[in-house]
Amino acid sequence: MSDKKDKDFPDPEKKKKMLKDMFGKMGVGATVTMPGFDQQEMTPESVDGETSATEMKRADEVFDFKYKPRDIKAHLDRFVIRQDEAKKALSIAVCDHYNHAKYMRSYEQEHGKTPDGIEYQKQNVIVVGPTGVGKTYLVKHIAELMGVPFVKADATKFSETGYVGGDVDDLVRELVQKADGDVDLAEYGIVYIDEIDKLAGSGGSMGRDVSGRGVQTTLLKLMEETEVAARNPNDMKSQMMAMMDLQNGRDGGKDTINTRHILFIVSGAFSGLEKVVKKRLRSGQIGFGADTLDPPLDGELFNEVNTQDFIDYGFEAEFIGRLPVRVVCEKLEAKDFVNIMQHSEGSLLRQYEREFAAYGIQAKFEDSAIERIAQRAETENTGARALMTVCETLLRDFKYELPGTAVSELSIDADLIDKHDEVLAKYRELGKRVNVAKTREEVDIYCREFHEQHRIKILFTDDAICLLGEQAVTQGRSALQICQQRFKDYQFGLNLIQKNTGKGEFELDVEAVNDADAFLSECIVQSYKNAAERSDEGVEIEDGKSGADDI
Ligand code: ADP
Repeated sequence: MSDKKDKDFPDPEKKKKMLKDMFGKMGVGATVTMPGFDQQEMTPESVDGETSATEMKRADEVFDFKYKPRDIKAHLDRFVIRQDEAKKALSIAVCDHYNHAKYMRSYEQEHGKTPDGIEYQKQNVIVVGPTGVGKTYLVKHIAELMGVPFVKADATKFSETGYVGGDVDDLVRELVQKADGDVDLAEYGIVYIDEIDKLAGSGGSMGRDVSGRGVQTTLLKLMEETEVAARNPNDMKSQMMAMMDLQNGRDGGKDTINTRHILFIVSGAFSGLEKVVKKRLRSGQIGFGADTLDPPLDGELFNEVNTQDFIDYGFEAEFIGRLPVRVVCEKLEAKDFVNIMQHSEGSLLRQYEREFAAYGIQAKFEDSAIERIAQRAETENTGARALMTVCETLLRDFKYELPGTAVSELSIDADLIDKHDEVLAKYRELGKRVNVAKTREEVDIYCREFHEQHRIKILFTDDAICLLGEQAVTQGRSALQICQQRFKDYQFGLNLIQKNTGKGEFELDVEAVNDADAFLSECIVQSYKNAAERSDEGVEIEDGKSGADDI
């Protein structure tokens, strides 16, 4: 019996390792406890690996919300440039959705049942727009403001039978993870699915007929109302968790997640949809000079899109019918990129400034550079994502070469972009120059720290500071780092000298910087000599009972 038990149940250490390995491989967040086990916290990751910094609320707090559409739009305006129609439509949809959920929740809490005769069509949203124009960014900021969990996935990962790593229902389960296991809160989360156009059948570019249609049907159920098992029956990890909960006598919480109040937002570039709309508009014009009609601009054209166009594009009528709110995100141009860099609270420029500041370099983006970066980004055709690509390429050499040199300011202007190599060479030269003021600041910091730690005052002569500055440049280190290494343990020697001479302050000159050990040894020897001489004198004085005034 006991043999069998031992075989079936490895010792706790082994079990711990097995679980750790397994959970690690799955890359999914969970807090694992088993009797005799330490707590292991694993970081959650969403379906597509994005994590959200959303500060979660409790479900009851979410329903304290009193936002009006205008408030939500004002919040989005702080981060997202343009896309005004999308912001408005999303703000209204979100307010309606959560107001309805709030009403239903309070009614249920009061009466113990759902109200009769209430008809409500969920305001799931479809966002049409090219890549990198702020679709995800909008949804992420809405979820953050609401304090609800948010999960993003690409529709291309799905197939009818499942998608890499799980099935469509996993999206909903993911919300629970994001809500730290709070199923109640997860039931009010937001699921965002990008590249939804790839699920379209014949009309779409991918031609994913059968499987795409199957996924639409599965998603349809989720968007409507269904109960999803809180633990994936095919997921070993979930089942282990359930087992551990049972073992620990813990209540594993709700077994199912109801999707009634989960807001679904889907998006895609929908390339080819314009053709469908144009065709319809033209056919409506037959006999009225259809051939001479100028097709409206893309943005305007998208506003003409109707349900039939989506069906002609390849969507199931039922599926598209569950997405009543349709919004368009416009393509961004160079002037929008300028605005994003200058005015969005999430501007990439702040990130770059912080990154340079970490090396003690104050980087400043001049307007002339911002213009250039925006123009280059426009040619990349990846929306605002291109800003990062452009900045990375432009600044890579500067970020690599300048840290640790004498350069403490970097002006990112048109010249830096147009004459990259020339400007880099200029900064390289500058970097070699000794920045005396900066060196002095660092040396002062060192002296202060030394005094605080050892109660011994040290100071450096001007020549010593210049020499330290030169060495910092040639060695690519800071003067502070050099001092910390070179005068490490100096306190012991200086303490001895202090005892021998009674001196409280020590001045270090170029000799100390050039050869710290030799200098200190020499000073120590000298201090002993002086002490001996003084004591000799003292003896003589004592012997001769005179000269006390000289001491
Ligand atoms: P997509 O439209 O493909 O979902 P994202 O929303 O993920 O694109 O945008 C990528 C990044 O580009 C965002 O994280 C944000 O920094 C920036 N960005 C995109 N559009 C805008 C915008 N309209 N205003 C401000 N920043 C934007």
